[in-house]
Amino acid sequence: MSIIDIRSIATEEQWMDWHWQLRNRITNAEELRKYINLLPDEEAVFNEQGFSFRMAITPYYLSLIDQTNPNDPVRMQAIPRIQESYISNSDLADPLSEDADAPVPGMTHRYPDRVLLLLTDQCSMYCRHCTRRRKAGEYDAPMPTENVEKAMEYIREHKEIRDVILSGGDPLTLGDQRLDEILSELSKIEHVEIVRLGTRTPVVLPMRFTESLLKVLKKYPFIWLNTHFNHPQEISEVAKKALAAIAETGIPMGNQSVLLKGINDHVDVMKNLVHKLVRNRVRPYYIYQCDLSEGIAHFRTPIARGIEIIESLRGHTSGLCVPTYVVDAPGGGGKIPVMPNYIVSQMPNRVILRNYEGFITSYTEPGFEPLDDNKYRDLCPPERESNEGVMSMLKGRCISIGPAETKRNLRRKH
Ligand SMILES: *Cc1c(COP(=O)(O)O)cnc(C)c1O
Ligand code: SF4
Repeated sequence: MSIIDIRSIATEEQWMDWHWQLRNRITNAEELRKYINLLPDEEAVFNEQGFSFRMAITPYYLSLIDQTNPNDPVRMQAIPRIQESYISNSDLADPLSEDADAPVPGMTHRYPDRVLLLLTDQCSMYCRHCTRRRKAGEYDAPMPTENVEKAMEYIREHKEIRDVILSGGDPLTLGDQRLDEILSELSKIEHVEIVRLGTRTPVVLPMRFTESLLKVLKKYPFIWLNTHFNHPQEISEVAKKALAAIAETGIPMGNQSVLLKGINDHVDVMKNLVHKLVRNRVRPYYIYQCDLSEGIAHFRTPIARGIEIIESLRGHTSGLCVPTYVVDAPGGGGKIPVMPNYIVSQMPNRVILRNYEGFITSYTEPGFEPLDDNKYRDLCPPERESNEGVMSMLKGRCISIGPAETKRNLRRKH
């Protein structure tokens, strides 16, 4: 059977209608085969008994796939492969213990001043790497209203909560009116200072940002929006228009990527992604180390890879483009920032640091009193009794040492 171009199944009006996109999501192998030749690893997963995490792909997101590339980054995020049915021995059903930290079903209160509220388990597209795959797509439906009510009650009673993160599933799969109700209720709680929308719609359903939705969002100046682009290929012309429209309503935008093997675990891909995000007024916020959720072992990279990526960004490009790399602690400890080590050595009152070029510098702390060599000897072991290199800096004999032929040095001379 010949392959149908997914774009040809809809008129422009249908294509740009988010309800049409949701109604026409591709949810089974038979439909998928009409639009794409499946790879053996993809065919295999549909016959697998243990395969449980729902598939649903918006026609729009499917259209971003380059079918000539078997390892296309959009394809790998949208179409399941047999590797998903392997549960590795480090996998956990709820790696972040979100359910254990839930005072009300669907709401996680882990940090002192903010809560995570899941409004629905529906997503417009189910990401194959989803960390919350135990929940996402279980019913493909909004949370029961009484759960949301209970969560609102909890927020009202806990005055320390100043930040509410609306997530799911994807909260923007809810209708405009329901969102308006929820936002309105939150806006009446005096101690709630900001509300964050965690949504993948700018990536997988950018036509969701209709005038009517933007009008609702504009009513609530406490909104921040965090989205989830993982690869520059996802920033299409339609996505760019959506981002511009969101920015024009005045909503600040951040991006949370997941570090994914074979998709974005490369310095060049990440650099291109963060540059493209910033050009579209989205601040790269986090890169997540891939969690220990079940069935996603094939997406994981070593933590060293994330550190390498941050090291290749920091200093080399605008600080605005550098996200924080975090490991979300298995067992529920929350996000832990991980980065290259820039502190070379420490002594009382003096710290030795290195920059991105390998330039080493010394910072003298406030209240510094010069120590003579004898005092240094008391503080430091005999093997460090040198006057060279870093020791000479600790002793204040020079301020910095570093490579001579850097571009920066060459610019200085001329
Ligand atoms: C990620 C997360 C937050 C928000 O963390 P920030 O570092 O403030 O962005 C809050 N609650 C839970 C449960 C989370 O997983
Ligand atoms: S949009 Fe978020 S919650 Fe939904 S499947 Fe993707 S990662 Fe999971």
